[in-house]
Amino acid sequence: MKTESSYSQFVEQVKSFRVQRVIIKPEGIEYFLKPEYGSEQFFTQSSSLGDSFFELLKSHGVQYDAPANNTGTLETLLGLTISAGALIGTLFALRKFSDVGGGGLGVGMGMGKVKVNSRRKTGITFADVAGVDEAKQELQEVVDFLANSEKYSQIGAKIPKGILLVGPPGTGKTLMAKAVAGEAGVPFLSMSGSEFVEIYVGVGASRVRDLFARAKQQAPCIVFIDELDAIGKARGNNPNLGNDEREQTLNQLLTEMDGFSGNDGVIVIAATNRPEILDAALRRPGRFDRQVLLDRPDKSGRFDILKVHSASVALGEDVDLDVVANQTFGFSGADLANLVNEAALLAARENRQVVLMKNFHDAFERVVAGLEKRSRVPSTLERQIVAYHEVGHALVGALATGGSKVSKISIVPRGAGALGYTLQMPEEDRYLMLEDELQDRLATLLGGRAAEEIVFGKVSTGASDDIQKATDLAEKAVTHYGMSSTLGPIAYARTTSRFLDEESPRRAMSEEVAGEIDRQVRQKIERAYQSALDILRNNRDLLEETTAILLKQEVLDGEQLAAILAQVKVSR
Ligand code: ADP
Ligand code: MG
Ligand code: ZN
Repeated sequence: MKTESSYSQFVEQVKSFRVQRVIIKPEGIEYFLKPEYGSEQFFTQSSSLGDSFFELLKSHGVQYDAPANNTGTLETLLGLTISAGALIGTLFALRKFSDVGGGGLGVGMGMGKVKVNSRRKTGITFADVAGVDEAKQELQEVVDFLANSEKYSQIGAKIPKGILLVGPPGTGKTLMAKAVAGEAGVPFLSMSGSEFVEIYVGVGASRVRDLFARAKQQAPCIVFIDELDAIGKARGNNPNLGNDEREQTLNQLLTEMDGFSGNDGVIVIAATNRPEILDAALRRPGRFDRQVLLDRPDKSGRFDILKVHSASVALGEDVDLDVVANQTFGFSGADLANLVNEAALLAARENRQVVLMKNFHDAFERVVAGLEKRSRVPSTLERQIVAYHEVGHALVGALATGGSKVSKISIVPRGAGALGYTLQMPEEDRYLMLEDELQDRLATLLGGRAAEEIVFGKVSTGASDDIQKATDLAEKAVTHYGMSSTLGPIAYARTTSRFLDEESPRRAMSEEVAGEIDRQVRQKIERAYQSALDILRNNRDLLEETTAILLKQEVLDGEQLAAILAQVKVSR
């Protein structure tokens, strides 16, 4: 009576609301259609049962069960909601296990209430993590806290307890957390945010409790929470499914973090590639108040990472990792590890004793093809546009009065969206901005777009963020700071709160005044854009030279950048 079906058929049936009930078994999924469709019973091999799987079931009103069966580890699971959660946890664990490929894990898998990956020694040290020296330096301190916590307690210093690792996927966040534990020689307890959030309300919270109970027993140790955003999303943002559960889990995490001190020897490291969506409560002092950035590596970083990963690979004499580093612009650490491995696989397939440069070239093409699908590696033209754009900001910024001078430009893709970036010295510390400065600030913001127009005769979509910022600033100047000749010092924006920097709605006003505000804003922007164009036209050679250097080096900072910026000529 059980008919075999494919997984995609199953999904389709669920989506068309025909499925009544699902039984999840280690060997696959059994499901029953609703009586009106004949109550037929099907069986399908499950491919993966991630969060989205359960979301799918929930959103289509499907009941599901995960009964006890004969595999032994899964006994006595019926009845207790927590245990049912643990079964799903176990299914995840089995799947994860194959991903990990060796290494001890799974203590308490299927036995306790909760699965925690805990290993005595990670065996990973800072030497395994390359190209992220700044992050290493910051985390060196954490290693010292763990290794010598008495030293700090004695003198009465409070050890920080929560560290947030932030960076795009594959930049070594997980690796780094393990390395910290390895360096300090302490146990590493890890869980992923998506594993906390379970199908039954209350399970996630009890897992958090469990995790911290274990951590306290094993202190000094590292607790690592991967994908923190899965539980730590700002509350109240999403009125959809599972919100209660996530909120409970998050609250429990906050409670646990408040309930111990770093001096107890437990340090929590969390990782996310979406820090911007995290609940603000997570960042409060005493929680994840330290943030360490792991970014995509620049050229020399890529070289170091390639060295680490090819250390155990037999390289042919013709292999020049410097050339490979040069070529792999935009690659993350994981991409580079993947590249080295692909090259080794190709060499082995050709029955070679060593990996040749040719294998690297072939591997490169493969890996890039994969990356391009995810559209992460910019094309040559895109790189050029980005380089001119960033140099444009920097050169215009060099002449700005009261200036926040540009201290670094980079075309290494950063974070989620940005293709390149220009780093300006602190803006936060300024409490007052003069009208001239504001006008210069506007010009700097528009310098990127101005460079694109001058060089390419057209503009890209890459400047949208700059334009947004410039428009906001110009509007504020007119409606907030009274910096307009025709409108005078009248605040056209309502003050909302002195402490929160909220969007301020405009005061009720006549259409005439509203029109004048828009005209004034436009005038300010146009003037600023014109002055950016003037500066860049006046310094066209410098624009070209600097861009060429930036394209070659990918990063420009320090004295080299300062020397360039000192050459910018004032208009006329
Ligand atoms: P993330 O957690 O940031 O997504 P991972 O730590 O899981 O990244 O990295 C995946 C793999 O990529 C690592 O196991 C390692 O092999 C490689 N890798 C990533 N970053 C680095 C790095 N900076 N140095 C050496 N290897 C790295
Ligand atoms: Mg990771
Ligand atoms: Zn820009």
